[in-house]
Amino acid sequence: MAEIADRYDPSIVESRWYREWEERGLFGADPASPKPPYCIVIPPPNVTGSLHWGHALNNTLQDILIRYKRMDGYNALWVPGTDHASIAVHVILERQLAAEGKTRHDIGREAFLERAWKWKEESGGTIIRQLKRLGASCDWSRERFTMDPGLSRAVRETFVRLFEEGLIYQDDYIVNWCPSCQTVLSDLEVEREERDTDFVYIKYGPLTLGTVRPETKLGDTAVAVHPKDKRYAKYVGKTLEVPSVEGTITLRVIADSAVDPKFGTGVIKVTPGHDPIDFEIGRRHNLPTRTVIGFDGRMTAEAGKYAGLDRFEARKRIVEDMQQLGLIERIEPYRHSVGLCYRSKTVVEPLISRQWYVNVKPLAEVATKAVRGRRIKILPRPWVKTYYHWMDNIRPWCISRQ
Ligand SMILES: [Zn+2]
Repeated sequence: MAEIADRYDPSIVESRWYREWEERGLFGADPASPKPPYCIVIPPPNVTGSLHWGHALNNTLQDILIRYKRMDGYNALWVPGTDHASIAVHVILERQLAAEGKTRHDIGREAFLERAWKWKEESGGTIIRQLKRLGASCDWSRERFTMDPGLSRAVRETFVRLFEEGLIYQDDYIVNWCPSCQTVLSDLEVEREERDTDFVYIKYGPLTLGTVRPETKLGDTAVAVHPKDKRYAKYVGKTLEVPSVEGTITLRVIADSAVDPKFGTGVIKVTPGHDPIDFEIGRRHNLPTRTVIGFDGRMTAEAGKYAGLDRFEARKRIVEDMQQLGLIERIEPYRHSVGLCYRSKTVVEPLISRQWYVNVKPLAEVATKAVRGRRIKILPRPWVKTYYHWMDNIRPWCISRQ
């Protein structure tokens, strides 16, 4: 009689059974089967390394459903695959190159793509091995990658269809711009770094507000306070005549809940052209946009006498000018997180550019209806409210990085 191990070793048992299941083709689905179909398409994991605990949980849940239906007489199919996650992979490859002291321009397009495919093989291979170790009962003969020709064709087809239905359109959007690399950066490509700077308290007529970016003052199109802030309630809706470096300017005072009443004086300047939060505030209140810093990181003609200056030089000059005019109340040292380009370490400039959007509102309405009509059930129930809140407040989805 063979020795029986005195301890249960799952790795031996699981790998033996997994091989057995695969060899017998137990995970395959047959298109000709008369059984009712039951199908799950895996939310494809990104090929950015290896799976984490979240994947272990959600893939186990999918496996439970698929195995249950398979045993319950359904023609069950779980389609596996991986996602290219192009920007994230691009960033990983550039970091690897940087470690070798190279850039993607040094090696050229062909060699870069070669590396990308090699990375995909490695990371994708790891992910598939991990799924198999988890016991996932996927039909591996149908494995897909989101850049396979068929899937790419489906993306183009969907894009054109949504465009023809008026659901895809172009509009302005605020993006992370690197003036050195002359490119848009995704949020993943922006590194955060704590830096010391000046927090400048500027007088705006009867109001005072603090900012770390006084040079963007030239692009202000409003000042904002929190709607519940009693200190400033009497100014809301009024238009102020404010002495400034370009003479007297007029600014509307608006109330928006994005303002933190406990931060600084509780008043903020709104510069929709150069700050993502201000851009959103501007959209909500139909504020005009003034672009005073250009794609080269220099002040534009809109900046008047500061035109042509580098943005940091302009910051110094404008503070000096305001000091002479008595417009600065005080300057405090301040430590804050600055966004840097992950390649050149240049300070990222939020700028407005033309991008592609999906109008998701009508799509969200259909999704909400499915839950209201109990066609889709959300468990546990309290999350239904969260779901409605999310769907009812959904905003246009920016799908390009141009
Ligand atoms: Zn850069």
